[in-house]
Amino acid sequence: MLNLNGAKRIVVVGGGTAGWFAALTLRSMFGPQAEVVVLESPRIGIVGVGEGGLLNLVDSLKQLNIPVDEFARETGAAYKLGFLYEGWRDGSEGDAYYHMFVDSGIEEIEWKQYGFYPLVSTLTHFGIELSQALPGFQVIAKQGSQEDARRMLADPACGIRPSWHFDSQRIAAYLKRVALSRGIVHKLTEVSSVQFDETRRATAVQTTDESIAVDFLVDASGLSRLVVGKALQGEWQSFSDYLLLDRAIPFHMPHPKANPYLVTRAIAMSAGWVWQIPLLERVGAGYVFSSRHIDEDAAVAEIERRIGMPIEPSRTLHFEPGHFKEVWQRNVMTIGLASGFVEPLEATSIGQMLEQLRNFRRVVLESGGVVSEEVIGRFNESNARYWLGIRDFLRMHYDCPRRDTPFWRDVAQTPLPDSWRALKACMQQRLPRPIDTEGYYSHPWTSMFHSLSWVMVAAPLGLISREAAFNDMQRLPADTRQRIADYMFRKWPHVVSRLRR
Ligand SMILES: Cc1cc2nc3c(=O)[nH]c(=O)nc-3n(C[C@H](O)[C@H](O)[C@H](O)COP(=O)(O)OP(=O)(O)OC[C@H]3O[C@@H](n4cnc5c(N)ncnc54)[C@H](O)[C@@H]3O)c2cc1C
Repeated sequence: MLNLNGAKRIVVVGGGTAGWFAALTLRSMFGPQAEVVVLESPRIGIVGVGEGGLLNLVDSLKQLNIPVDEFARETGAAYKLGFLYEGWRDGSEGDAYYHMFVDSGIEEIEWKQYGFYPLVSTLTHFGIELSQALPGFQVIAKQGSQEDARRMLADPACGIRPSWHFDSQRIAAYLKRVALSRGIVHKLTEVSSVQFDETRRATAVQTTDESIAVDFLVDASGLSRLVVGKALQGEWQSFSDYLLLDRAIPFHMPHPKANPYLVTRAIAMSAGWVWQIPLLERVGAGYVFSSRHIDEDAAVAEIERRIGMPIEPSRTLHFEPGHFKEVWQRNVMTIGLASGFVEPLEATSIGQMLEQLRNFRRVVLESGGVVSEEVIGRFNESNARYWLGIRDFLRMHYDCPRRDTPFWRDVAQTPLPDSWRALKACMQQRLPRPIDTEGYYSHPWTSMFHSLSWVMVAAPLGLISREAAFNDMQRLPADTRQRIADYMFRKWPHVVSRLRR
């Protein structure tokens, strides 16, 4: 059992995005009797990438009483309305599809019957991508300005919700300012070791300057993985059998067009893909690749050919996709990069970190501060399931038809996790729906990826057949099918008339 009610000091190791979000969450959970201390190494610094949020970024800011407008201003943020996948099917000019941040409140989404979305199935049957059916999509397709996006988003009928692209250095600095204003203590010092008692509870951290007693310890030490990784030798769940990418070369570049894109671009390359995250003043970019298929020099040369200018990469990041199975052990919890990482496809890292914090907050508060080992075990199970959802969602993106290089041919031979294989088989019969994805995100976690996100990736990749979509429609009663016909004549008359000819 872990009793946090008498906690006097909570220490967070790490002053990156994860460390500051954790400290702010802990500050909001504990009264003034508990000191929240962030220890940050002046030597190591932060990872300095990770510039794209998901929808739960906005939810978390609101939960922490951080004004979203101020956050956007202070972090150089630009709207992020989804993702654009370029070259993932045949690599030809114009090969592109969108995964948008869909909002309910429009007919296509709002209408749910028998556990699925009849109009989404209909659109899929007619070969219309859901993103294009969203009223706000035209602003994205025309690459509108930030102001165009702001106006479009003000209309509740736009069908899109925003998140943000932001500067990774400025987000840590901004969160730190907010944290200091809320009484969180910050020390620039390096942790060299952690002391544990005979039950493996953390009792103190040793820094270069002092020993600091702890009642609860959060390991947000990034890729140093200081506590659950190095000190406790936590068990790692690797995803490398299913996801081949293990290196990233980040760099900055100017905007290729006048307006920053309103989406994160994921551009397929010979041995992986390049992310392009458009901030207001620059683009944060990087080539994520498989070290078995290309070396660093060749990767840099390929980027330079692709974007038509030399780049100045800061370093190459090495990673093994996966996570620690037990992120919470007694009075220690690891979070952010210290707890796990997979390639930044779909920008899952900060989103996962925020969901973990949200669940931690719920578990501690609803346990009245006295948390049983059983509940901690369930927390870890939910967290692991969450990671499985991320793994399967990413693996789906690689079930794409591209085969032109050894990497893409090897991707086609890479095994499918059983859970993704099972869902993929269902997609031959019907569209994916909430019942399929809720297992990844146990109640009351809100899912980072709604089942409609799965549709928006699976349909353009050809993983959902027209027959499967037709099967959904056939299951509906006659009056519902009439409603569908009325909808198609009203909204998509040119598609209906084209099919009739
Ligand atoms: C290539 C790449 C691309 C990414 N893209 C995205 C994306 O698009 N979207 C997204 O959500 N996420 C992305 N991420 C992940 C994102 O960068 C991280 O989730 C986020 O920045 C949080 O990092 P962190 O705080 O866990 O680690 P860091 O930023 O690395 O912070 C670690 C902190 O720990 C401190 N520290 C380390 N050791 C010690 C010690 N011994 N003593 C004291 N302090 C110590 C460091 O000084 C630092 O302050 C990406 C990551 C990578 C690698």
